[in-house]
Formats: sequence, structure tokens, C-alpha cells
Amino acid sequence: MTEETPKNQQLDDVQRQLLEHLAKSDTSGFKQLLAGVNNVNFVDDSGMSCLAHASFKGNREAVQLLLDMGADINLNQHGADYTPLHFAALSGNTHVCRLLLDAGIKPGSLNSVNRTAAQMAAFVGNHACVETINNYVTQSSLEYYTQVHGQQTEPQIPPSLLKSFHAFVTEINLHPVRIALNVQSLGLLRILSSLRKTLALMCEKEMQKSHDLNELLAFKFHYQGWILAELIRCEEQFKAQHKEKGGEEAGDANKNDFIEVFVKRVLKENKLGQLDYVEYTLRECAREFPVRECTIFRQIATQFGAKDAPPALTILRNAINGMRGFVDEGGYCSTCGAEKPDKKCSKCKAVQYCDRECQRLHWFMHKKNCARLLAQSQTQPQSQAKGAIDTAELREELSKLAA
Ligand SMILES: [Zn+2]
Ligand SMILES: [Zn+2]
Repeated sequence: MTEETPKNQQLDDVQRQLLEHLAKSDTSGFKQLLAGVNNVNFVDDSGMSCLAHASFKGNREAVQLLLDMGADINLNQHGADYTPLHFAALSGNTHVCRLLLDAGIKPGSLNSVNRTAAQMAAFVGNHACVETINNYVTQSSLEYYTQVHGQQTEPQIPPSLLKSFHAFVTEINLHPVRIALNVQSLGLLRILSSLRKTLALMCEKEMQKSHDLNELLAFKFHYQGWILAELIRCEEQFKAQHKEKGGEEAGDANKNDFIEVFVKRVLKENKLGQLDYVEYTLRECAREFPVRECTIFRQIATQFGAKDAPPALTILRNAINGMRGFVDEGGYCSTCGAEKPDKKCSKCKAVQYCDRECQRLHWFMHKKNCARLLAQSQTQPQSQAKGAIDTAELREELSKLAA
């Protein structure tokens, strides 16, 4: 390409329209037009590719379509060296980040001011994107565990479960309830014990690396493995109890009911509203991290020892995923800690949940507080509203007097 040729001369009408649809977030128009296009690898006059545009708009569907059609993740003539992942990180859409990472984009690429995509996301406060990128490991790096090595007769993880295993490992929500529910929904319950061993091995291998060692990931694997060990303990207790209750009946009980027992154990609050079991378990988990001589271990130990220490779950989450600069709007699911849940308790509207299942699992605790929260919400905003009206009335009265 010669310097004299403006890049925008390469854009034909269809390409220009495609970018317009993206700019207007008109996904259906984009889709229709895209169906007749052969080559999706073009750039606009700023050197930004179509994929970069879709990523910047956080348009998950468009990004997926473009990747399916062979969009080049490395096509970039943008002077500032932003990859599509930098743009996705700025958009705040974690799904788009995830699609690009799965497509093989390099998370460590630097833009012209030496910032990675995760650093750009942190800069604009898109914490979930930071976590998605920093927690990412490639599926191919996990294939090792689905293969037979040395004395083994079978792999630790069946190859058919590689995708589920990958989804489990890269999950950013570290709440014990979410871990338990993910194990169930990803179909990993039947390999619980080998999954736990694999995570311990992954932690060990990470800490033995001579370069690119990632302490945070190592600690995360240790943590996930620890929660699985607790889940296994719960399953054993559950089985033993059902055997005692009468041999044949044990078969009738749903064998996954121990997940529910575990979830309730986690969510059980003491009189002060604290999660005793979580606190105890997570402190134990941190103490048992196999490597002492590392920053993350020391950092956690210091925080546990501090006066008025926050809950262990907060300390470990921050240690793995980094501190969040401010409290995010949108709140968290009261059951599994997921961000920005859609549902609220229909009675008190004071607590939020991902879905009916999360609400159902929390009800045994929430039923004690629901009425009180409802009463609070009925008295507080009304008195405030009344206060506001009173001031307005007063002002009106005063203005009448002045007139
Ligand atoms: Zn939830
Ligand atoms: Zn309620």
C-alpha cells in the first residue's frame, strides 16, 4: 500500500453501511447486510476493523457473527494499536471480551501508550472486564488434563468435559454458592473428586513456573479446589445420613440434594448476619495455601490479621481479582454474589437475585428478614417523600406571604 492512498478509498458502500449499522446498534440491519458479504476484514479510514467497531459497541451478536465469518483478530491499522480486546474492554461487555479471548486474541498486547486491555478496562472502571481478562486461561492449556500421562490409565478430566472444565476454571464469580451451582450446571458433579485433584495440581504447576508465574491464578485454583473439597465433604456426610435413615430410602433421595445442603450451609447467617461457615472455611483455605513465600499469601495473612478485617470472602476475592475502586451500582445476588442481577424479591424489593432458583435457595434465610425490610421500605421513602413535599409546601406558603 502506498502512503498516498487514503485507506477509506477501500471502503465500498456495503462496508460503509455495515459500520453505520454498528454505530446505530442496529444489529438486525447489520446481520441482513452481512449475509451478502464475502470479506469481513476491512478497516475504516482510522484503520479500525469492522470487528473492532463491533467490539467497541459491545455488540456480542455482531462480534460472534464476524468471528464466525473469519474476522481477523489481528487486523489492526489503528495508529494507537488498540486490539479488538482493548475496544471490548472499554465497552464493558464481558461476553465480547470472552468471545475474543476464546478466538485466541492475546490479552497481553499493548496499545501505543503501553496499556493492556485489562488496564484500559480498569482505567474506565469496567471491573468485570478486568476480571474476565485476568482470569482467562486458554482451553488448549487445559487439554493436558484430558490426556493420559505416565502411569495413568485414564485422564483426570474426560475429554468430553473439556469445555465445561474450561468454563469452570475461567469463572470470575468466586462465591462458594456459584462454584457449587456451576459444578452442577456444567455437568461436573460426577468428576468432583478428580476435578479437585486437578485444580490442586494446576496450582502447584503454576507456582513452579520459572517465568510468567501468576500467583493470583495459582491462588484461585487452590481456592476453587478447596471449595470442591468442602462440597465433597458435604456429599459424604449427606450420604452417610441417608444410609442411617434407612437403607432402601437412600436411593429415593435425589443424589444431588447435597448441593442444596451445601448452599444452605454457606448462606446460613449468625445473629449478626455474618456467614460463619464461609468465614471459617475461607480462613482455613488461605492458611493451607502450599506456598508461603509469595506476595499473595503475605497480603492475605496481613489482611486477616488486621483489626476490623472485612469478611474473608471479600479479602480473598479482592486478592484474586483486585480491589474494586468503588461500590458498583446494580448490586449483587444475595445467594451467589453475581453482579447486576435482574430479579428482586417481589415482596420487600430490598434484595436481588439472578433468577428464581437463587431466590428459592435463599428463602430459608430471607423469610426472617423480608417483612422487616418491607416495613423499612414502606416507612423510610414515604417519610422522605413527605419531607420533600412539606418543604415545597412551606416554600409556597412563604412565597404567598411575600407576595
Ligand atoms: Zn444468584
Ligand atoms: Zn423479601
